[in-house]
Amino acid sequence: VSLTISPVRDLNGRIIGVSKIARDITDKKQEEERKKNFVTILSHELKTPITSMHAYIQLGLARSLKIEDQTLSNLLERAKSQTIKMTSMINDFLDLSRVEENRMFIDIKPFSLNELLLELIDESQTVAPKFYIEVNCPPLINVLADKDKIGCVLTNLVGNAIKYSKDSTTIKINCSIIGNTVKIDVVDQGIGISPENQKKLFKRFFRVNDTSDNKVNGLGIGLYLAAEIIKLHEGEIKVNSRLGKGSEFSFTLPLIPK
Ligand code: ADP
Repeated sequence: VSLTISPVRDLNGRIIGVSKIARDITDKKQEEERKKNFVTILSHELKTPITSMHAYIQLGLARSLKIEDQTLSNLLERAKSQTIKMTSMINDFLDLSRVEENRMFIDIKPFSLNELLLELIDESQTVAPKFYIEVNCPPLINVLADKDKIGCVLTNLVGNAIKYSKDSTTIKINCSIIGNTVKIDVVDQGIGISPENQKKLFKRFFRVNDTSDNKVNGLGIGLYLAAEIIKLHEGEIKVNSRLGKGSEFSFTLPLIPK
């Protein structure tokens, strides 16, 4: 309720009483909240239709393979790659609002890194069929982390490697065991990042000027979120890059002893 209290004066300006006006502003407040959280609400609303679109496309793909209709399956593969990109963007928007409102929590459980990488390769190859994605990971690597969130980190790192490299180049995901941790590197042969820009990469909304034109789409939140997620796992993302040569993004996760 909003309360306005003002003096009531007579013709000579003397105060002879007070007027109180009480207004119910519940609707207004709710409207303001909705406006403030517009992107979050929109992202939530978009999630359901995109998820069902993705499921229908999968069904269509299975059918097109069964009837051996190559043209149809090519078209559906392309549609599928767009739904994967949209889902990843929506997840980033939702994560951004979670981070900004200190609502990002991680759910740490053991999972197979090899399985997560297989899922990721499958999606990345759908989104970017012209790239060769190579995984060098020892078998049976089980880690203790939040699988969905680490999936987002890797999707963003591999997505960037694809976005900032030329077609037909190789992107490598290397895993190496160091003590009781596994170090994961995403390596590309792309445009690289200058030492000066490397310092700003993980800031919210930061984009390197040369890449902020229309050629490469992006909002500058992927690396910020990746860094926040790894911070919640008590780790750090490191970058090693040379302009014109390529980049390497690395982070470590705790291993589960075999
Ligand atoms: P976005 O890619 O949406 O712009 P990110 O936060 O993921 O946002 O990345 C921030 C910026 O860092 C990018 O705009 C790009 O300039 C640069 N960048 C990120 N990854 C790479 C990479 N693998 N190679 C070259 N530049 C990169």
